[in-house]
Amino acid sequence: MKKVDLSIVIPVYNEEENLPILYEKLKSVLDKLGKSYEIIFVNDGSTDKSWEIIKQLSEKDPTVVGVNFRRNYGQTAAMSAGFDIARGDIIITMDADLQNDPEDIPKLLEKVNEGYDIVSGWRKNRKDAFISRTLPSRIANWLISKVTGVHLHDYGCSLKAYKADIAKKLDYYGEMHRFLPALAKPYGAKITEIVVKHHPRLYGKSKYGISRTFKVILDLFLVKFLLDYRTKPLRVFGGTGLVLFFIGFFSLLYLVSLKLFLGHDIGNRPLLIFGTLLVLSGIQLISTGIVAELITRTYYESQNKRPYFIKEVVRKQD
Ligand code: UDP
Ligand code: MG
Repeated sequence: MKKVDLSIVIPVYNEEENLPILYEKLKSVLDKLGKSYEIIFVNDGSTDKSWEIIKQLSEKDPTVVGVNFRRNYGQTAAMSAGFDIARGDIIITMDADLQNDPEDIPKLLEKVNEGYDIVSGWRKNRKDAFISRTLPSRIANWLISKVTGVHLHDYGCSLKAYKADIAKKLDYYGEMHRFLPALAKPYGAKITEIVVKHHPRLYGKSKYGISRTFKVILDLFLVKFLLDYRTKPLRVFGGTGLVLFFIGFFSLLYLVSLKLFLGHDIGNRPLLIFGTLLVLSGIQLISTGIVAELITRTYYESQNKRPYFIKEVVRKQD
């Protein structure tokens, strides 16, 4: 397989008017870099002429790679397909609608050359509707930064550069593309952010509305789990289970001693129900923890996954 320096990964969903303009702009930026590159367009089940346009581009230009999905799987899946086939040492992701500016690519690369593994764009002057998009995403960004401990202003910006070895390691699902920097943290990724340009959409409509913010917040729970607890679910579930179990256990012990030593009637005490419930939920949580632990082990072993990631190995050739 022939390697290239750079892979540009672009999810495409009904962007027929934008594609030709994007292609021209990208070419003029990339040709000036003096690096080998490929442009990977991933057509995410478009119903317009996007795929025909991608096919035409790839026929006349060998640097263009087209991937065609059978149906619409979402932007995250499209990125992941792009990462899988990318042959570059560095992968750059961007949107197809020209809201990201190809002219920012050299700036991202500069940071990668300084030694960063992920360089994320920050749309400081975001050109989207304030109430439905910019405001909810500010709140979400603040929350994500608190929960994941990776501090970026703008997780949602698609314009990002990744060292390919790290990008190809990451596991993600659903709408999680914005969490890629956070998910890269356990691999020891050096992450930074630079201000990039943001333009209003030229043609077509945004594919998202406010409902995305809710999905993002739900995904955040999963990300938190993947980040902190993936390798030790028994501690999370089991730990909580043990605490509940003991609170319940001592409540019941207290009631039983009231009955035994003081002869009180305890049959109608709310604490009786409370204690029993806690003991039962405690036992359930501990069992859930054991099951989760077994699943986790199977996951790592079946895929030969390792809980570590080696950056390089040096040895004298013999
Ligand atoms: N996109 C995609 N699949 C989808 C929705 C969007 O591949 O289901 C692509 C879309 O073509 C664009 C990028 O993802 O290149 C971002 O989409 P959009 O511009 O609608 O999002 P926004 O800029 O409003 O966040
Ligand atoms: Mg857009």
